[in-house]
Amino acid sequence: MADIEKATKILEILQERYEDAPQTYLNWENPYQLLIVTILSAHTTDAAVNSVSKDLFEKYPTPKDLANADDEDIIDIIRSVGTYNRKTRYIKETAEMMVDEFDGEVPQNMEDLVRFTGVSRKTANVVLQTAFDINEGVVVDTHVGRVTKRLGLTEEKSAKKIEQDLMDLLPKDDWDEWARIMGAHGRDLCNSRSPDCPNCPVNHLCPSAELEQ
Ligand code: SF4
Repeated sequence: MADIEKATKILEILQERYEDAPQTYLNWENPYQLLIVTILSAHTTDAAVNSVSKDLFEKYPTPKDLANADDEDIIDIIRSVGTYNRKTRYIKETAEMMVDEFDGEVPQNMEDLVRFTGVSRKTANVVLQTAFDINEGVVVDTHVGRVTKRLGLTEEKSAKKIEQDLMDLLPKDDWDEWARIMGAHGRDLCNSRSPDCPNCPVNHLCPSAELEQ
């Protein structure tokens, strides 16, 4: 079976299981909030970010508020997400750039988004797909990368190269869906420590099914 056929089949099967999975597990109410929480989510869990984001946006409801905030006040709120000095700088500079260059709005294209401090392609893809329904790439987080590799659809290690393989393989319309569904599968049966291959509905299509027993 060609890789594209296999990927399409896998997606169809898993869509039934993860029909209600969200595009992101981060809490957000507008594009500004989504951009900031996605920056904060680097190297930590979505739950950790969700535990601080309500307080953060109650205190700084607009990019202008955050741009003018005191570093120490931000750190007091976001300390538990880790690397808080760096993340404070990232989100403040991002808020400043939104105010200075984009009239307080989040730009709706990859080229502008990756110019923001602390914004990777992954972060930009999350914002574009989730807030604006725009597919400019594939979100490759730890779950999507792991599942895609186990399924034998990439041999690459870096998120950037895995994303390129997926963009070459999948129709553009499926890019956001691949991330949503594989993100859900990676949190559920195909988790990092003990994948439940015997109960996985795509084990007949997965070269890692036996290896992971
Ligand atoms: S068979 Fe196992 S390794 Fe393959 S996708 Fe399913 S859970 Fe993951």
